[in-house]
Amino acid sequence: METTSARHDELAHNLAEVRRRIADAAGAADRAPEDVRLVVVTKTYPASDVVALAELGVTDVGENRHPEAARKREEAGAPAAVLTWHFVGGLQTNKAAAVARYADVVHSVDRPRLVDALDRGAQAAGRRLEVLVQVNLEGHDDDPGGRAGASPADVLALADRIAATGALTLRGVMAVAPLAVDPDDAFARLAEIAASVAAAHPGATAISAGMSGDLEAAVKHGATHVRIGRSVLGERPPLG
Ligand SMILES: *Cc1c(COP(=O)(O)O)cnc(C)c1O
Repeated sequence: METTSARHDELAHNLAEVRRRIADAAGAADRAPEDVRLVVVTKTYPASDVVALAELGVTDVGENRHPEAARKREEAGAPAAVLTWHFVGGLQTNKAAAVARYADVVHSVDRPRLVDALDRGAQAAGRRLEVLVQVNLEGHDDDPGGRAGASPADVLALADRIAATGALTLRGVMAVAPLAVDPDDAFARLAEIAASVAAAHPGATAISAGMSGDLEAAVKHGATHVRIGRSVLGERPPLG
């Protein structure tokens, strides 16, 4: 589980740069930098990087695939146990119970059956799980085969369903800015949706938005969690 000191230095340097970007964006929006939580997305990178990140003061990591996430958490050992693990990827219903055993926060809840499966899985594991409703900001509701996320019209009903479960805690909303849209517009829209969810569910104030390329726009529009991969860990190899 050793990282080379060169890798350690590279991660330290990249983290400092990302933290500076978050602080600058928060300052520009008159927000406190500590109100924006950095989730480092470690997908495709080894458990040794997770351990190095923990040593560098990272408190939150994100993964997008099961079983890669489970394996990495296991492999990272004791340092992994003090981290908060966020599951940020598309989740098949039949994998929900497995993810409910090790994830602390699931950002990608986008349909009623997934709510029910996560709730059952968390109850079976004797755990509570924090969840966010993933919102599809693509804007064509007539495209059911499109990107992940609930259509905006369905978000409140999904939030109500989560709030009525025994083992899930509704924390807020999450989105990925669509490629074809100005992230500023996308995250402004998300902020409106987040406000409507928080009005109905006062504890649900989290907004998970912003990745390496658009964290500034997300922080400007109230992101409480940014999910950063490449800017900390480096470019991922293309998926095979
Ligand atoms: C990979 C991923 C990220 C991080 O993206 P980067 O561009 O590497 O910062 C954030 N959110 C989700 C859902 C992801 O899958």
